Amino acid sequence: MAIRILIVEDEKSIARGLAFNLRQEGYDVAVAHTGQEALERFGREPADLVLLDLMLPDMDGLAVCRSLRRESTVPILMVTARDREMDKVVGLEVGADDYITKPFGIPELLARVKAALRRASVPATGATPRLVAGGVVLDSDTHSVEVGGRPVVLRPKEFELLRALMSQPGRVWRREDLFAQVWSDVDFIERGTLDVHIRWLREKVEEDPGHPERIITIRGVGYKFVP
Ligand code: CA
Repeated sequence: MAIRILIVEDEKSIARGLAFNLRQEGYDVAVAHTGQEALERFGREPADLVLLDLMLPDMDGLAVCRSLRRESTVPILMVTARDREMDKVVGLEVGADDYITKPFGIPELLARVKAALRRASVPATGATPRLVAGGVVLDSDTHSVEVGGRPVVLRPKEFELLRALMSQPGRVWRREDLFAQVWSDVDFIERGTLDVHIRWLREKVEEDPGHPERIITIRGVGYKFVP
């Protein structure tokens, strides 16, 4: 699956140029022209990296950055103008990973993008130490989970299941794939196991387990985690 990059840039010609060059490199590219659009888009289909222009018409790029950071650990590469030195400092403070100053060349951009992705890359086994989404914090190092700031105790398989779901917020998991991620393919004979664990998990991470808002059932397909 191609690495997905979300470009947030209001100047359409610049956005088009960036999208073209990133697609040439094999990235899957989405473009948002406003801060609001960026947040909506990211909520719908998370990206592997966000290229965020700080000068946006509707809201400050820093506010967009802060907002993304509340939901996700996605690498954020800020685009700043040369005369706005302060933005860099504040940008890094609110959670951006790196910045690039306009005007910049495509080779520099590609190098920064690759570096940010490399820093963020994690083994497929899901060794990301800390996942934050939808008011849930999952820490793999300490094997602990907090929901709305309150610690909850999970069984090992519940923990693995939540980690898989949270590692890709918004992804619709086929039941088989989710099962294979946490157990092993051959064990899928016991189909009820997944659903039982989902039910247990909801009792711990949902305000109202009967009406889940985080772990959602997609009928006929499987499950997804909504941040
Ligand atoms: Ca702009």
